Amino acid sequence: RTTPHRLLREEKILVTVRLRPLTPRELANYDLFAWDCTDHNTLSSTNLNHDRHSSSSSYTFDRVFDPCCPNRSVYEQGARDVALSAIKGINATIFAYGQTNSGKTYTMKGIADHCINDIYDHINNNQATASKFVLKFSAIEIYNETVVDLLNRDSGPLRLLDDPEKGTVVEKLTEEVIKNSQHLRCLIATCEDQRQVGETSLNDRSSRSHQIIRLTIESSFHDESGCVKSLLASLSLVDLAGSERASQTNTAGARFKEGSHINRSLLTLTNVIRKLSGGKKSGHIPYRDSKLTRILQSSLGGNARTAIICTMSPALSHVDQSRNTLAFASSAK
Ligand code: ADP
Ligand code: MG
Repeated sequence: RTTPHRLLREEKILVTVRLRPLTPRELANYDLFAWDCTDHNTLSSTNLNHDRHSSSSSYTFDRVFDPCCPNRSVYEQGARDVALSAIKGINATIFAYGQTNSGKTYTMKGIADHCINDIYDHINNNQATASKFVLKFSAIEIYNETVVDLLNRDSGPLRLLDDPEKGTVVEKLTEEVIKNSQHLRCLIATCEDQRQVGETSLNDRSSRSHQIIRLTIESSFHDESGCVKSLLASLSLVDLAGSERASQTNTAGARFKEGSHINRSLLTLTNVIRKLSGGKKSGHIPYRDSKLTRILQSSLGGNARTAIICTMSPALSHVDQSRNTLAFASSAK
């Protein structure tokens, strides 16, 4: 039996922070390391990084990953429980949030890799109990509030429709039935290539666009009394646009640029997450204000489980953006 305390812990959003190593470029510029991982839960600014904005220079999260931490540990401690809930019929979403070049794509690739292993281990271990699994794959990119099918870029912008049963669905989106783990890895690699095709036409596309990879997992099995039961849930893996596109600070002194700088989906997502973690169940949650939040509505809040991995450059030169990231991470707890 689940205790109320345990229920409470499972419902909240899992928020972790990952520092990447200094890049070769940061090292070549004699940039300095501005953060200390004091323990597994605490991040503090070094004394180099004097606090210009607030008195708080120490932050606490569900987990803080230091620059040496491999993808496997980030997955195990920052995503695994959330990912595996999709096998048990609970919708799940895992996000990487952070400024451009902070390690979002690196982190989500690692998460996807470990998810695939775990899900197929689970399927193989349950084959004997006559459970049946059907996995489906789809992938989209949201760029400038336009939804593109990464398995069929030529299909043009896709519309969102409101289905009375399924909620918001992406019209005409390609859904592939996955044959095995190898097939799934190929599909993910195809989407990566497709994202790069878009990149050449506008060089900072990946800092502006969101990528959502979605697995739907349907399982059927016999319960204790021999009845056939089935479960259906989705796991969404989201590589977000650069978080500098949600912050107002960058636009100070350049207000005319605000329209092109601010990313509507990212800004709405941060509002939705803040409201969800605020604990006010009855308050209005602005899911309908952007494409990203409409598509993710059934996978966020309610009975769904969410993990947010905030990625950060450790460099002194990026302290302001890193503080914005930490402020968002704190508001999501
Ligand atoms: P983003 O997607 O946020 O723009 P990337 O994932 O592309 O950032 O990461 C930027 C660079 O830093 C890449 O060269 C990537 O390989 C490297 N990198 C990011 N995170 C790590 C990490 N944890 N360990 C080692 N290298 C990393
Ligand atoms: Mg990226």
